[in-house]
Amino acid sequence: MKILSVVGNRPQFVKAAPVSRAVRAIGEEVLVHSGQHYDPALADLFFDELGIPEPDHALGVGPGTPTGQTAAIVAALEPILVGESPDAVLAYGDTTTTLAAAVAAAKSDVALAHVEAGLRSFDRRMPEEQNRVVTDHLSQRLYCPTPTAVTNLGAEGITDGVELVGDVMYDASIAFAPAARSRPGADALGLTPGEYVLVTAHRAATTDTRAALVDLIAMIGAIDGPSVFPMHPRTRARLEAEGLLGEIAGIDGLLVSEPLGYLDFTALLLTARAVVTDSGGVQKEALFHGVPCVTLREETEWVETVSAGWNALVGLDPDRLRAALATPPPAGDPPPLYGDGRSAERIAGSLAEWLA
Ligand code: UDP
Repeated sequence: MKILSVVGNRPQFVKAAPVSRAVRAIGEEVLVHSGQHYDPALADLFFDELGIPEPDHALGVGPGTPTGQTAAIVAALEPILVGESPDAVLAYGDTTTTLAAAVAAAKSDVALAHVEAGLRSFDRRMPEEQNRVVTDHLSQRLYCPTPTAVTNLGAEGITDGVELVGDVMYDASIAFAPAARSRPGADALGLTPGEYVLVTAHRAATTDTRAALVDLIAMIGAIDGPSVFPMHPRTRARLEAEGLLGEIAGIDGLLVSEPLGYLDFTALLLTARAVVTDSGGVQKEALFHGVPCVTLREETEWVETVSAGWNALVGLDPDRLRAALATPPPAGDPPPLYGDGRSAERIAGSLAEWLA
């Protein structure tokens, strides 16, 4: 089989790392990097650290609006699909790159498989939700991380080609945890393991308006004790544009850093007291490593983390954030909600069987 995988940003590199390895063990993979994330801290570093092969095609779309980036990726993919003639396109997650890969595959009449299918926040204003819904409806193979995702697809009338495989980010967390443990982590930043809160924020709803940024600053300010915020370039750019970067830097006990590589970020996560985030992937990773999570949203696609008691949704309300951080996590380790660490293998095996 010949699979053409399309990646382009940070969470996709993490997801593609185990899948690319599993696909290449039994077939041929052509890797396309859209260039949606072009900052080296969000891109190049991930290829090196996660052992992802050099892309066969780098589209280099660079900065732009989501619409402009989508159009550029679709247009650039068309001749590649003609030239490479893959058996299937593999798209990951819910980003602009995912949507563009799905549209390009459909328009070129190439089979499409979606990794992390069936996730829903039920908020169609979210760019990620739009990307997921369109991609799922164009896919012939839908690889779901959770039973909830399978149910969500069923509710939209999608049952053919749907498989529950587990979560490939869990595979990655298992594969890379030993390397992360050997990184300097908290010590290198002068933080005491078990005492600090790790913060991430980059979503449109948290950063696109001045009001949301002001709320975000209030949320981070409400964290009691030391915290560390590896700042996404998008968030930094928005704070700078609104003249609010100084306010963040002035928060007592907060250390702002550049965005980290996967291993350094995981090292910090492993010994954090809690995580405060608006990221999808980080909510799950907190659970994988038994770290309580507080999510700066009113809903989540990863509902199991909430019902298991390891994730609290607090929106942008500082009082709810304080209460969540003061609540101890459930006793014992979190339950294994995201498969057995062999999701990537299962996806590769399923693709081979389907395409045979
Ligand atoms: N991550 C990272 N460095 C950071 C922050 C996050 O490597 O400074 C990783 C994190 O471990 C997870 C992924 O980036 O694997 C999540 O990406 P992001 O939050 O950008 O996207 P989302 O998951 O919300 O789609």
